[in-house]
Amino acid sequence: MFSVSEARERILSQFHPLPSEILPLDACAARILAQDILAPHELPLFDNSSMDGFAIRSADAPGDPGSRSTLRVVADIPAGTSPTTKIKKGEAARIMTGAQMPEGADAVIPVEDTDFHSRTAGTQAPGEISFTKQVRSGDNVRVRGMDLGAGEVILHKGRRIRSQDLGLMAMLGLSRVTVHKRPRVALISSGDELLEVGAALEDGKIRDSNTYALMAMIDSAGADGIRMGIARDTFESVASLFERAVGEGVDLILSSAGVSVGAFDYIREVVEARGRIEFWKVNMRPGKPLAFGVYRGINMIGLPGNPVSAFVGFEVFVRAVLEKLAGRLDGGHSRVRVRCSEPVESDGRESYLRARIQLKDDRLTAQLTGHQGSGNLLSLVQADALLIIPAGVKCVPAGQEVEAILL
Ligand code: AMP
Ligand code: MG
Repeated sequence: MFSVSEARERILSQFHPLPSEILPLDACAARILAQDILAPHELPLFDNSSMDGFAIRSADAPGDPGSRSTLRVVADIPAGTSPTTKIKKGEAARIMTGAQMPEGADAVIPVEDTDFHSRTAGTQAPGEISFTKQVRSGDNVRVRGMDLGAGEVILHKGRRIRSQDLGLMAMLGLSRVTVHKRPRVALISSGDELLEVGAALEDGKIRDSNTYALMAMIDSAGADGIRMGIARDTFESVASLFERAVGEGVDLILSSAGVSVGAFDYIREVVEARGRIEFWKVNMRPGKPLAFGVYRGINMIGLPGNPVSAFVGFEVFVRAVLEKLAGRLDGGHSRVRVRCSEPVESDGRESYLRARIQLKDDRLTAQLTGHQGSGNLLSLVQADALLIIPAGVKCVPAGQEVEAILL
């Protein structure tokens, strides 16, 4: 039986980043950049005011506290215009936030710091202004190129595009972006006991919860999930859903349940009939029955059926696979070190335990969310992290630190 890290390495070695495509900017949220993004020009594009006020020559401002300057207002510069008047000694121009600085001026005095009190929309510029505030050259001016220079790498290949990244690319006129294709995943649930969520309950049956949790996880990992539905516990039913998945031309077939040693567990048999199983057990808890193989040339991962095991198996293996397929290089999982607030028992397998994290005495402190049975989904709902208890460890004393995956 492989350790978690051996299993992960073997799985990841079989996947490679998908090719790129060029998309309009507004379709790029959460995509992964397939090339470095260089700034085609500097930002800001031109010297501009960071305040509503008056553009002045700082030499015209009061030289010492208590004295007052009075300047003649010779121009009005709304945002979006290019000023034509040069500001000379004793002159000022009314200027709005974001408007281009006029020649001659090197600072802006905010309107609040002047004697001009008409600040509502539509007011005419005054003939002159006076103020007592001292002003230095550059005050309230955003200088051309101060944020970034032309040719600078602003975003690196392999980065997941965030909303602020989209804003910056828009500022730079990058209306089309080269990103990796989204991985496509066929999702199969299996089990005679499973009902659709909306169906009436029957004796001995339960609802298919894995489909819902896993579809959302696939999406959160930047991939498209395609629901294949529920396979019944027969060879033919499982095989027919695997065949449909092949027909969809997916990058990964993901199933849940039916990979253990039960008399009705057909996933492995079906895969072996038209491919091979590389392994089907990992030394971890929960989630020991976890299969990896190839079905008709398409990689498959068979997650365990128990809802918490399926979730943990996804977090530990599938998320990394989907991020690799999507071309992600900026590291997915955020891992932190947390202190256990109580002694934590384990059985010696690498364990992933559900815990709530709180800041106590300036340290992240973890408390288990209840019994750790692999069918108890409520304790996962209440958790904000999975504590990782390394293989070989049977008890972590209270106060000791362990690594955790933030959910
Ligand atoms: P199996 O791997 O088929 O033995 O299933 C292990 C456990 O997971 C059983 O208790 C199943 O009823 C449960 N299970 C399997 N598939 C699902 C599913 N899609 N949603 C919720 N529970 C499931
Ligand atoms: Mg089953």
